[in-house]
Amino acid sequence: MPEQKQSVDELKNQSPQAEKNPCVSILLPLPFKDTYDYLVPASLPLIPGMIVTVEFGQRHLNGVVWSVGKTPDVPVSKLKYISGIVEGFSLSPENLEFLKWVSSYTMSPLGTILKMMMSVPEVFTPLKRPAPQRIFPAPDPSFNPPLLEPQQIEAVAFLKSQFSRGYSVTLLDGVTGSGKTEVYLEALKECFLKKQQILILLPQISLAPQIAQRFERRFGVSPTLWHSSLTKAQRRESWKQIHSGQAQAIIGARSSLFLPYANLGMIVVDEEHDPAYKQEEGVIYQARDLAVARAYLEKISCLLASATPSLETLYNCESEKYQRIQLKSRYGVAEIPAIQIIDLRQLSARKEKKYWISAPLATHLKETIAAGEQALIYLNRRGYAPLTLCGSCGTKLQCPYCSAWLVNHLKHGKFICHHCGHNVSVSKTCQECGAEESWVCCGPGVERIAEELAERFPSFRTTIISSDIIEDADAMAQIAEKIHNHDIDIIIGTQMIAKGHHFPNLTLVGIIDADLGLSGGDLRASEKTYQALHQVAGRAGREEKTGHVYLQTYAPEHPVLMSLLSGDRETFIAQEMESRERGDMPPFTRLASLIFSSRHREAVELTAQTFARNAPRSQDILVLGPSPAPLAVVRGKYRWRMLVQTPRTISIQSVIHQWMKQVKIPTNVKVKIDIDPYSFL
Ligand code: ADP
Ligand code: ZN
Repeated sequence: MPEQKQSVDELKNQSPQAEKNPCVSILLPLPFKDTYDYLVPASLPLIPGMIVTVEFGQRHLNGVVWSVGKTPDVPVSKLKYISGIVEGFSLSPENLEFLKWVSSYTMSPLGTILKMMMSVPEVFTPLKRPAPQRIFPAPDPSFNPPLLEPQQIEAVAFLKSQFSRGYSVTLLDGVTGSGKTEVYLEALKECFLKKQQILILLPQISLAPQIAQRFERRFGVSPTLWHSSLTKAQRRESWKQIHSGQAQAIIGARSSLFLPYANLGMIVVDEEHDPAYKQEEGVIYQARDLAVARAYLEKISCLLASATPSLETLYNCESEKYQRIQLKSRYGVAEIPAIQIIDLRQLSARKEKKYWISAPLATHLKETIAAGEQALIYLNRRGYAPLTLCGSCGTKLQCPYCSAWLVNHLKHGKFICHHCGHNVSVSKTCQECGAEESWVCCGPGVERIAEELAERFPSFRTTIISSDIIEDADAMAQIAEKIHNHDIDIIIGTQMIAKGHHFPNLTLVGIIDADLGLSGGDLRASEKTYQALHQVAGRAGREEKTGHVYLQTYAPEHPVLMSLLSGDRETFIAQEMESRERGDMPPFTRLASLIFSSRHREAVELTAQTFARNAPRSQDILVLGPSPAPLAVVRGKYRWRMLVQTPRTISIQSVIHQWMKQVKIPTNVKVKIDIDPYSFL
């Protein structure tokens, strides 16, 4: 930006004494917590939020004015002038407040969060040829919004009444197919007409096309989609339009919370319970919680929608921090599907155990397809088989960089590590014992179920839906269309298909392994399994035809499965709450994980031990560990973990902050802090 630079140069020469020229601190999109001081010509008034260019080392960077009129920490003569102002861009006070909040909550450097907000640095350099103006058509006057049912009308009225209150959080707790989407689309019309921006957060972007389509039909406007597979040009345009307020409706995955909204009027977090809202890489955050924080700072409404709300959210409703409205029945004549158990222990002969799809489920499948209806077979496991071993010597195929098995993926013709992405073609010979073609696949993944279906029922048209096969929203939209057109009889899907989708002709859901996920040391194992199975069951019988759900299990007496069977969600939640309260676990307390990692086994162990020795000594604070992480090695790095638990009244961040000051962390060890952890691996 040579013209801009020149103007700063001219101005500073007009007032040569540096002390007349104020100092500003600039936050740069770099992984640092500090801001940097620069001078500005006195006649160039800057305010926080403006974007400026500065020289930083050898580089020219765009940063944001953080504060003005400060006394510099170093002699003025050592400071540089800013190089220029980036005209036409700034971050609003609300965006800056959010940035600060996220940084302090997640204990991540301010600069890192700024980088997430300025995620499209190209927007600041003018295009050679301006992008074509996006045309926003007016709402289609011929569109008639659906006639709402009394329970839906009540919900809409309640949501609208919240808009005038400024900040509020409402849980829209409605059974699958009760019209939650219909309700929030109707309610947010008010924001839309006021020209405010609306953000709809989804746990996975493959759900976006169908909501975008419903939005479009109703408002005559295509929402702006925000996700990782946009092209550079799309990102650039979307970022700019969101920044200018021109993009009014935004549908996005969790990263869309960090966009520079000009005028946000409402945030919807759909499927609020979904664990996918937790970002585990880089800055670790829970997007639902950040959405609530953002709503608070923007003084607007936040709507959390779910058929199986998280315990955290229900707890907040109970303590009256959030409001709750309920939709108790499905829309129209659709009934909640009947759930039945297939007890795998009772299937006697070996013959019956030969297949992953049990005989009773196979019979129901045949009947369903014969009746011209569709079915979904659910198994939350990608690939062909989770474990492959040599039948001769027992060697397991393991990732060389992680303590994890390699998963066989037929589609890719590779064995893939689900933790680091390492992939290999495996030779026919076992490297250990030299046996030929001795590989034995253990356990099923979705590809194996598809293979079984093809073998047993060659006339059924099947498709696999899992994240490694359906890679983006477009691919999902295409496959959804095929399902709607009834070009598919049976979907074999992972959790990717378990939620949000509405296929009117789908009447049977078969769950291959209802016990998957119930074991293991995860605090939320029961809750997550309940939610996932309830969601997937909710795909069945969403219109006139009654749905049936069959759960294959070896543990039919497990409370999670019993609650699913009886449809008694409240009892399940009450039991789960009680067990969390008894164990002093969230939502009754706060948790944070410290994860130490290093290529050097001893260094990581030593650092973790040093942390333990310096642990805060207080009756209120419980420190568990350190111990080697269950996933002891990832990407060649050794991992140790600690868990910190405090009462809700204590800032767990301050506790950790104080603690970290006591310990010197060697440069070859990384310490990651995970506030409100969801993963304990
Ligand atoms: P949820 O989000 O609770 O799963 P949806 O909003 O997707 O439910 O509604 C389920 C189906 O019922 C959708 O096809 C939707 O268009 C339809 N539906 C819901 N409410 C109405 C209504 N009042 N009039 C017509 N169709 C409705
Ligand atoms: Zn690996």
